[in-house]
Amino acid sequence: MDLTVLYRGPLASCDYDCPYCPFAKRRDSREQLRADRAALERFAGWAAAREGEDRLSVLFTPWGEGLVRSWYRRALTELSRLPHVRRVAVQTNLSCRTDWLDGADPDTLALWCTYHPGQTPYDRFLGKCRDLVARGIRFSVGIVGFEEHLEAARRLRADLPDRVYLWVNAAEGHTYTDEEAARWTALDPLFPYSRHPHRSAGLPCRTGESVVSVDGDGTVRRCHFVRSELGNLYDGSYRAALGPRACPLAVCDCHIGYVHLESLPLYDVFAGGVLERIPAGYRDSGPGGAGTTSRGGGAGSRPG
Ligand code: SF4
Ligand code: SF4
Repeated sequence: MDLTVLYRGPLASCDYDCPYCPFAKRRDSREQLRADRAALERFAGWAAAREGEDRLSVLFTPWGEGLVRSWYRRALTELSRLPHVRRVAVQTNLSCRTDWLDGADPDTLALWCTYHPGQTPYDRFLGKCRDLVARGIRFSVGIVGFEEHLEAARRLRADLPDRVYLWVNAAEGHTYTDEEAARWTALDPLFPYSRHPHRSAGLPCRTGESVVSVDGDGTVRRCHFVRSELGNLYDGSYRAALGPRACPLAVCDCHIGYVHLESLPLYDVFAGGVLERIPAGYRDSGPGGAGTTSRGGGAGSRPG
């Protein structure tokens, strides 16, 4: 079957110190890092063994920053080369080196990058993005929509090629006036989807049917936000629980959740790039520039 998996292991540390993030500058002990590595390698082993059974799309959504850890880079590279993996992507602050991407299949690997002004010099971040373009890596880049980020966001939009999608996440707890929303929408035409939480109670959502969330122990839930369990990945017990089901929560306010709501048109809007948040039409961020057809982002999420 076609299965999309959102994986989040125990890793909670980050090399950045964003004022709006509960994971800023958290440190993991050696033991916690060892546990995260073991959990990730177990998951990657499971995914590799699904050849002949499933076509997988995987998004790593660590609480902290994964790509500064070798085991995330290795898992992404190796999974990208497997024929039954349609897409493998990760949310990242892009602080890492990029040479490891040489080993990945650029048709399958993708990055969801967030720019955090104040944490890294603008030119360094832009240079990393340009490096990704030169390498032909699929990526989206985004920013949290704080007023104080507006100038940096405008600069980034102007400096990036048009074919690179820049998204804006509504800042948690902030209500945008129409004027504010218009300023952000000028940068990200899809900002209106992020501006307000989506009413989701009782509405059909693909999570729990073709999309699941998996933690480091292999516990399977429908999404990162609904805590009830569907079973375990490694004993296969989740499988019998997959099926259509309505959302039990009042609202869904994070892209990595509501993108799967069937009442929204976002599988069409992001066709080919649902996991890495690249809308259809932006497609190929490679150096050639022409769009190629590809095979294939609250309370439960970090801000970007
Ligand atoms: S928002 Fe992202 S980059 Fe910033 S501290 Fe949190 S996890 Fe790190
Ligand atoms: S709408 Fe959001 S909260 Fe509800 S089931 Fe889907 S992903 Fe989870």
